[in-house]
Amino acid sequence: MLHELNATQLISIANEYGTPVYIYHAEKITSQYEKLKLAFSSCNSRIFYACKSLTNISILKHLFSLGASLDCVSINEVKLGLMAGFAKEDILYTPNCVDFDEILQAKELGVNINIDSISILEQFGDKFGAGYPVCIRLNPHIMAGGNFKISTGHVDSKFGISIHQMRHIERIVKSTRLHVTGLHMHTGSEIKDINVFLMGLEVMFGMAEHFPELKYIDLGSGFKVPYQPGDAETDVAELGEKVAEAFLKHEGETGKKLQVWFEPGKYLVSQAGYFVVKANVIKQTPATVFVGVNSGFNHLIRPMMYDAYHHIENISNCRGTKRIYTVVGNICETDTFAWDRSIPEVREGDYLVFYNAGAYGFEMSSNFNSRLKPAEVMVKDGHVTLIRKRDEFDDLLKNQVF
Ligand SMILES: *Cc1c(COP(=O)(O)O)cnc(C)c1O
Repeated sequence: MLHELNATQLISIANEYGTPVYIYHAEKITSQYEKLKLAFSSCNSRIFYACKSLTNISILKHLFSLGASLDCVSINEVKLGLMAGFAKEDILYTPNCVDFDEILQAKELGVNINIDSISILEQFGDKFGAGYPVCIRLNPHIMAGGNFKISTGHVDSKFGISIHQMRHIERIVKSTRLHVTGLHMHTGSEIKDINVFLMGLEVMFGMAEHFPELKYIDLGSGFKVPYQPGDAETDVAELGEKVAEAFLKHEGETGKKLQVWFEPGKYLVSQAGYFVVKANVIKQTPATVFVGVNSGFNHLIRPMMYDAYHHIENISNCRGTKRIYTVVGNICETDTFAWDRSIPEVREGDYLVFYNAGAYGFEMSSNFNSRLKPAEVMVKDGHVTLIRKRDEFDDLLKNQVF
């Protein structure tokens, strides 16, 4: 089953905790994690959960309990990870354009550090030299991913150090005696074609020759999950086989045994998430019928930011006659969740659910229009637990000085 919490369960949670509400199904995260572990079981692999997709500490603890490691893009994510129980060795810090002071903090905390620019590599090398091993984020110049904003490996991208700057890297490594133990790439999100990873891996193997102390190659993520019914998912099983073959071949040729790391975010948590809202107003205009819900891009911005499709169901009237609606939010700005979508008849007061809301949903929410952030609830072993209270009015004033 694509979606595993049913309408009755979602309605009962919405009644108890109010709407809008994010609901996460722990068992779905577990099954996605296990699918990945199985896919890469013939490689010497490690899975780092890219927690920027969803950082609720209860979700982090769940992934920790499964045996995952953690990929963090800010020092605060590192601190949350440590709080959730992850060991420092199991955290990879992959920042971009941060203050050098943040990198010093990460070094103090003892986590793995992934370096993203020549300037930082030089500063880090000057300060710590052989004293602290690093990973280097390379830009392999591969164009991939579902949307330009989430493509990170192309030539115009701000991410990583270009593979054509190897001489700069080598000069710094040589003069500062840095130990480079990892090479990293992450070319974007929603990559269906596994050849993107395999091409990237060949580039990484080429670069690996320059680093005799290399222990792992991190292929990042971008694993796609189905958002629309009938949509494809990245074939991780096939990727696992091909990656295992490639590493075996590389080992045969060079005698080097390298680990492979991955950093999935979306793949692990997207489908586990349900965002339930209430239809406030049904509004006919000469052009369309709008359903105005008690949310907006302040709570779920993916449709507006990335033109993302989120499947919508009317859980209060699952078997109703299908009609065509444009689903919008209540924000004073055009915030259309879906145009001309066929949904069972919606009445004012009905609950609608957005599927695939686990990744980059709550995490990208804001208080725009002085609206409150929603509650988050986790369903695990049949138990329903509130894992974040809904914002209250006082939260809007919390840091204001007046
Ligand atoms: C965002 C990000 C990921 C996760 O991407 P998904 O598409 O959610 O799997 C992994 N690694 C890095 C460095 C990232 O910035």
